[in-house]
Amino acid sequence: MAVIKTDLCGMFADEIAAVVASYGLERYRGRQIAEWIYRRGAADFGVMTSLPKDKRELLNRHFGIGAVKVQAEQHAADGSTSKFLLALSDGLAVETVLMRHRYGNSVCVSTQVGCGMGCIFCASTINGVIRNLTGGEILSQVLYINQFLRQFDAAVDSVVIMGSGEPLANYDNVLRFIKLCHQEYCLNMSYRSFTLSTAGLVPGIDRLASEGLPVTLAISLHAPNNVERSRLMPINEKYPLEELLAAADRYASVTGRRVTYEYTLISEINDFDRHARQLVGLMKRRLANVNLIPVNPVSESGLLRPDKVKVDRFLEILHNGGINATVRREMGTDIRAACGQLRHKVISDSRN
Ligand code: SAH
Repeated sequence: MAVIKTDLCGMFADEIAAVVASYGLERYRGRQIAEWIYRRGAADFGVMTSLPKDKRELLNRHFGIGAVKVQAEQHAADGSTSKFLLALSDGLAVETVLMRHRYGNSVCVSTQVGCGMGCIFCASTINGVIRNLTGGEILSQVLYINQFLRQFDAAVDSVVIMGSGEPLANYDNVLRFIKLCHQEYCLNMSYRSFTLSTAGLVPGIDRLASEGLPVTLAISLHAPNNVERSRLMPINEKYPLEELLAAADRYASVTGRRVTYEYTLISEINDFDRHARQLVGLMKRRLANVNLIPVNPVSESGLLRPDKVKVDRFLEILHNGGINATVRREMGTDIRAACGQLRHKVISDSRN
């Protein structure tokens, strides 16, 4: 009978210490093992040369180090963006995107297989949510990218929690992931290097504010009024704009962090001057950045991105209204960088 091994990846050092203690390992070994897994990317116990050989064999029999396996990858022609479809231990796969900026390497991680939010322009949600990722599975995506970056003598500098899935619908695992990355024996990353994007789960925003961590919050806004937002994002029926903006304001005042508002521009849907003007009204006097994202067309949806003139005009109206706003730099549209599109393509191709 196959033995199911306990996965150590995703555990804090003291948790590792507790589970290996029953096999006669001293408490300090917890931290040592954690460093091997997280800092040095050890994929098995055999390489952990600071542990006695008999203990390594013992650990091998009882424990695993959950790692992801690359199933597909795409690299943008200019080298700025790489996208990986990573298989989890049960064979399901998620997308992870690496963006190489001049100022550092940023990784976009997925938090769920699929997504339950149902936003009409998004490929991740086409088949609904399949399951939550564990903290270890979210972390494994970053560990994988760190391994990939070793060839360039580089490592992950910042994380955007904007891949497929709704992070606040998988709160505990996402928090574990963020806190784990912060540990010195793990990736030693500051909380400021994390951005968490939500479709607008108000109770989750308040809970995150109460953690007192300086994580940047990004809100997927996409429309400046309830009628039109509900058409694009069904979650707006549950948590309408007034409640969402009030929660974002509480977050900004508790953490002192400027909130980012993502606004995906879809041609002839939410890109008219009146939308821009209404958005100015909403953002005025708020501690906010607006990030405009020309939609990545998903073939199933029939939605198109506005042309550059239209995008520039929208941006100009925001600027004239005194709003901090930028257009998201185009990265990797040649490799379907919008969330869910590579996974969706691999699944659809395998059905054809
Ligand atoms: N569920 C979270 C995080 C994942 S989506 C959220 O909704 O924020 C990350 C961002 O990508 C969101 O702003 C989402 O609206 C946007 N997005 C999804 N599909 C897109 C597409 N086809 N083109 C452009 N942006 C898209």
